Amino acid sequence: MHDTVFERSAPDPRLVADALRDSRREVFWLEDAPGERAPALTADVEADLAIVGGGYTGLWTAIRAKERDPGMRVVLLEAATIGWAASGRNGGFVEASLTHGEANGERRWPEELELLDELGMRNLDEIEETVARYGIRADFERTGTLEVAVEPHQVPWLEGDSTESDVFLDAAAVRAEIDSPTFLAGRWEKRGTALVHPGRLAAELARVARELGVELFERTRVRRLDSGTDGVVLHSDGGRVRAARVALATNVFPSLLKRNRLMTVPVYDYVLMTEPLTTEQRRAIGWSNRQGLADLANQFHYSRLTADDRILYGGYDAVYHAGGRIRPRYEERPASYEKLASHLLTTFPQLEGIRFTHRWAGVIDTSTRFCAFFGTARRGRVAYAAGFTGLGVAATRFAADVMLDRLAGLDTERTRSRMVRERPLPFPPEPAASVGINLTRWSLDRADHREGKRNVLLKTLDALGLGFDS
Ligand SMILES: Cc1cc2nc3c(=O)[nH]c(=O)nc-3n(C[C@H](O)[C@H](O)[C@H](O)COP(=O)(O)OP(=O)(O)OC[C@H]3O[C@@H](n4cnc5c(N)ncnc54)[C@H](O)[C@@H]3O)c2cc1C
Repeated sequence: MHDTVFERSAPDPRLVADALRDSRREVFWLEDAPGERAPALTADVEADLAIVGGGYTGLWTAIRAKERDPGMRVVLLEAATIGWAASGRNGGFVEASLTHGEANGERRWPEELELLDELGMRNLDEIEETVARYGIRADFERTGTLEVAVEPHQVPWLEGDSTESDVFLDAAAVRAEIDSPTFLAGRWEKRGTALVHPGRLAAELARVARELGVELFERTRVRRLDSGTDGVVLHSDGGRVRAARVALATNVFPSLLKRNRLMTVPVYDYVLMTEPLTTEQRRAIGWSNRQGLADLANQFHYSRLTADDRILYGGYDAVYHAGGRIRPRYEERPASYEKLASHLLTTFPQLEGIRFTHRWAGVIDTSTRFCAFFGTARRGRVAYAAGFTGLGVAATRFAADVMLDRLAGLDTERTRSRMVRERPLPFPPEPAASVGINLTRWSLDRADHREGKRNVLLKTLDALGLGFDS
């Protein structure tokens, strides 16, 4: 076993404690995203399409439905407030990939990966067009992702021919982009990722939906779903919605369909936000091309700049809490925040003395195939999409189109693809889930300490096309 660079070059624990001392447990993005609140449902209503869930999946479904058919009556029901969950807490990497990266796509759907990549890039281009068309103010910047090797064994994973939009960078070149003594090589993919302000994106999508005529309801939890004679009835405490069609966009939260209860597990991901960098601090690290930044280990970090030059730093610890529940108390995990703060100071020793202002956690809807799955129920009147596994900012818009295609009975290149038609294997019920997931996490951490070498458990899971990721 070898130490990783984050252990070999760990900063003094007192610097870590100082950096975290004044941080608040608040989601920076939500605090920084003014949005109009919607009323709760207080009477029975009728709709052509009812959407359950007010994250990106629900919001994109509402917008795409109105764009396809402006006359359609669309109602969206959100249990809490729009964008409060993963959609308002994420890293804001808007990635083209629909398959949680090339390697996962290549392993599962090699024969159609070219099509899936093309659909993913088209989806990202259309998001960019949508942002421009509706004047969405969400700090959208298409700066690409810079992946970096921080251990020698990772360098060959990045090597290979460069193209204009996908460039290999040796140690000197990568440090000319973003200056960290831990960076040994990099690969900058320039078109496949944009960055966005996640909280503002959710608020702005809600504004666009409202302007297109969608009726939004917050603080309206759907408790039950029944089949009616000519549609579906959704029951909430304040009233019922009778709808011809229903789209379920409830992500990691308990599904209204029993069949989907074991299809995702909640995995907690932890995030820190620094204070805005001074001009000298910016100069010391470079980063003038403002790429999204990620390293390559199984337990990887992601980071990026905000519009006011803070650094968001998240990832690494992906924690599954035994029992598979979603609980606010899981969001306070000092060990994870300390680890992240320490790793940021290892990455950028030039920033010694920097303070974190915000710390928060979000829940990732991990599925055994690491990307969204889709389906219908109740004789085609209910569609669902879930399981984005930490890569859903862009893929939720694709998922919206899949659900709308399915609900309209359309045969499209999306609905024909094997990726869309296939359902993944479920996770085992508890307590087997805890044992399996925690053994897998342990094995992934070990692999990161053994130059990437995977043990028998990981090799077996790889062969079965199963696994655990964030
Ligand atoms: C910390 C973190 C970092 C991430 N970083 C990235 C990233 O950089 N790039 C990326 O692509 N992805 C990232 N992701 C993943 C991405 O945020 C999600 O895939 C995406 O936001 C999922 O959107 P959603 O609408 O499906 O789910 P959510 O945003 O979780 O929304 C689901 C909504 O459904 C509501 N709901 C549930 N049940 C009911 C009910 N019965 N009645 C009414 N409402 C209900 C919930 O209240 C919730 O608001 C990250 C996730 C986390 C947590």
